[in-house]
Amino acid sequence: MRHIAVIGAGPSGLYLVDQLLRAAPDVEIDVLERLPTPLGLVRYGVAPDHQSTKGVGRLLDRILSRERVRFWGNVTVGSDIDLEVLLEHYDTVVLATGASRDRRLGIPGEHLPGVYGSGEFIGWYNSHPDAESVRQLGVRNAVIVGAGNVAIDVARMLAKTGEEFDGSDLAPEVEAHLTALPVERITIVARSAAAEARFTQLELAELGAIARARTSVADPDGIAGEGPVADTLRKLAAPQDADAQVAIDFRFGLTPAAVLGEGRAEALQVRDRAGKLIEIPADLIVTCIGYQSTDCSTLAVEDGTFPNEGGKVSDRVYAVGWCKRGPSGTIPTNRTEASELAQRIAKEALEGGRQGAEGLRHVLSNAGTQVVDYGGWRRIDEHEVARATERRVRHKHADVKGMIKTAGGATIGKP
Ligand SMILES: Cc1cc2nc3c(=O)[nH]c(=O)nc-3n(C[C@H](O)[C@H](O)[C@H](O)COP(=O)(O)OP(=O)(O)OC[C@H]3O[C@@H](n4cnc5c(N)ncnc54)[C@H](O)[C@@H]3O)c2cc1C
Repeated sequence: MRHIAVIGAGPSGLYLVDQLLRAAPDVEIDVLERLPTPLGLVRYGVAPDHQSTKGVGRLLDRILSRERVRFWGNVTVGSDIDLEVLLEHYDTVVLATGASRDRRLGIPGEHLPGVYGSGEFIGWYNSHPDAESVRQLGVRNAVIVGAGNVAIDVARMLAKTGEEFDGSDLAPEVEAHLTALPVERITIVARSAAAEARFTQLELAELGAIARARTSVADPDGIAGEGPVADTLRKLAAPQDADAQVAIDFRFGLTPAAVLGEGRAEALQVRDRAGKLIEIPADLIVTCIGYQSTDCSTLAVEDGTFPNEGGKVSDRVYAVGWCKRGPSGTIPTNRTEASELAQRIAKEALEGGRQGAEGLRHVLSNAGTQVVDYGGWRRIDEHEVARATERRVRHKHADVKGMIKTAGGATIGKP
């Protein structure tokens, strides 16, 4: 029997488990996840009002219930156990740790209060246990920097009315905070031209359907080309109800130059293509410009990912998903990549003989690590669904302690 440890229970780690079980009949797989809950950004990134996308979580979850698979929740590689120790107990180790650090703009003033990276902001509205509460009140002008779907998600969350969150898993306290903001204008600032934006048509079109919002595009003549994205942008640029409570403006071809403000953000200064500086009022700025991976134990990130050759990092160590290729593609992209890597591991990683779960259990017991197993996660999941009001599909725990309690306490391994 070969023993494989997968670090991270997001889509890429779980798809890899699925594909490894198919590709190699003689493997046992342990999935180590720093949170008591699996699913990574399906739970904490995908927007709370996009439940159809979050639905893939049910499929991913089932992978963890398979024979020869164990879930070790609340175990952080790097603090609860080191990579070197893991390699003593496992024949192969795969990093699937994602990319959780926000890329920065690198401009003066970006550390002023009122400026958030999208990871921080999205973590908050998705009730990530590490996310600081966003204490921003009185936001009239919000500026979102970015030309991808994450920017659209943030704009939608700021513009929707309370009723429009029905059927989501947005926490009631977050809904109360978001809908109490007196938002009047949301400006989506993109460095690229409209034709080069990475939005997808469905997400763009949703902005046009928000009850209290109207949309506009600063330079509609600049929307070049044909196709669903360009067509939808033209629709969003068409004149609309001038009395709408919230204006959502797209402004393309602008490069952020500085955040201006006395003690807190008051405006984003941008440079247009002609080099002219323009100020856009902003009490809240959310930058949606991508993510970088963070080091895992002794393994260091270079240029945002773990250096690898086709997924191979070093002898017996592989990487998959966002920590391997960077934050690109959709959830199914991770499946394709996981399938390729599983084939490679099945062919290359033939060495066996290490202890696997027994060794891990021993290390974590000695360290006193509180482990949440698959049964514990199932109890958290069921409890979150059961306690939701009728307007919600789930009411998430926002703290690790509460999750461990609901899990029925910590255990080591599968009961
Ligand atoms: C805001 C946002 C919205 C998105 N919306 C969509 C969408 O609507 N549709 C779509 O197709 N895609 C969407 N995506 C992209 C999708 O979420 C990613 O493609 C996918 O989650 C990447 O999977 P991953 O497993 O590589 O990383 P992640 O999902 O980030 O999973 C990594 C896991 O590793 C764990 N981990 C990290 N470090 C350690 C450690 N040291 N020890 C143990 N565990 C660790 C983390 O806790 C996490 O659970 C969105 C992404 C974001 C950021």
